[in-house]
Amino acid sequence: MHKERAYIGLGSNMGEAGKHIESAFLAIAELEHTRLLRTASLYQSAPMGPQNQPDFINSVCLVETGLEPEVLLKQLQQIENDHGRERKGERWGPRTLDLDILLYGNYEIDTDILTIPHSGIADREFVLVPLFEIAPNMVMPDGKPISQWVASCSLDGLKRLRPSNEL
Ligand code: ATP
Ligand code: CA
Ligand code: CA
Repeated sequence: MHKERAYIGLGSNMGEAGKHIESAFLAIAELEHTRLLRTASLYQSAPMGPQNQPDFINSVCLVETGLEPEVLLKQLQQIENDHGRERKGERWGPRTLDLDILLYGNYEIDTDILTIPHSGIADREFVLVPLFEIAPNMVMPDGKPISQWVASCSLDGLKRLRPSNEL
């Protein structure tokens, strides 16, 4: 079976946010044809968009998967639903769990349901810093090293909390 490496961004700011992230790691590890290879620490970040909501807990993980990108997206949305995700209300509002496919191999996809690489990597420190933690030598889609992307984003409001549980 053809397999690719994919990076997934995780976020939660409702209920026990850290628990949602760690439970999502486990659910991702159980996906068919998928191996969880690496998980970043948990980070706390100030909310993006509406400010009248709790801080987020964020992380990133690396998987090796035989699932096609659209199938992986559907499975991740199922995991979001299993964690009580409600799809309504304002953009970037509070949510129990958000799972975004950041990168999928070297794929470039731009359809109604899927944009890969994810459009929010470059300017989101809560994505870049955990990504850098587990992929410090990564070359980004523009050919620059990830360290350069990290160096040019603001780290204000981002706090490293703890390593994710050993898997
Ligand atoms: P953002 O994408 O800016 O982080 P968000 O995560 O809050 O915002 P959602 O409401 O979770 O946005 O998702 C809206 C839609 O984005 C989803 O229904 C999905 O089809 C689409 N989407 C496009 N590209 C991706 C991707 N790479 N990973 C996950 N969802 C994606
Ligand atoms: Ca998101
Ligand atoms: Ca999302």
